[in-house]
Amino acid sequence: MSTIALKCECGAVQGRALNITPQSGNRVACCCSDCQAFVDYLGRRAVVLDAHGGTEIYQTSQSQVKIDTGHDHVKSLKLSPKGLVRWYADCCNTPIANTMSAGLPFMGVFHSFTDIEDRKKTLGPIRAYCQIQDAIGTVTHPKAHKKFPLGITGRILRQIVTWKIQGKNTPSPFYDEDGKPVSEPDILNA
Ligand SMILES: [Zn+2]
Ligand SMILES: [Zn+2]
Repeated sequence: MSTIALKCECGAVQGRALNITPQSGNRVACCCSDCQAFVDYLGRRAVVLDAHGGTEIYQTSQSQVKIDTGHDHVKSLKLSPKGLVRWYADCCNTPIANTMSAGLPFMGVFHSFTDIEDRKKTLGPIRAYCQIQDAIGTVTHPKAHKKFPLGITGRILRQIVTWKIQGKNTPSPFYDEDGKPVSEPDILNA
């Protein structure tokens, strides 16, 4: 099991992801227009996205992620009222993670917030390269899929149920005991 160092680009926000193994979560890449819009809003396309507009995400549980420094810089937004809550560091506009809500243990940590020497060894191979209908150019990744493939969706749903039973939605770095977000999300397309 690994503890992964988490860090925004300027280093003001730092944290850790605990008890991570290639089996403990899902390493995926997402090319969807929402993930691209989020990174564009932060002005970080050139740094964060790959050549196809993809973002690499590690899906894990909220209680495995700790923020140790720079709490004041942790902000959030939603692209629409119903969408994912997207967390970022406002010191340097580094994308941090996505959450669904306080009650669901799910968290998708952006690669831009991780400091990992060997991603494949630590997180395992990319399980799916998703949402290529929104990708730039022709994607040749062997795990390329339109939308999210059922296998990965089923796997993450099963993990969310297990994590929920284990109480892994708390403690969360982004929600207090009452489920209130540490920073109220701005809604971009209200
Ligand atoms: Zn920063
Ligand atoms: Zn996406």
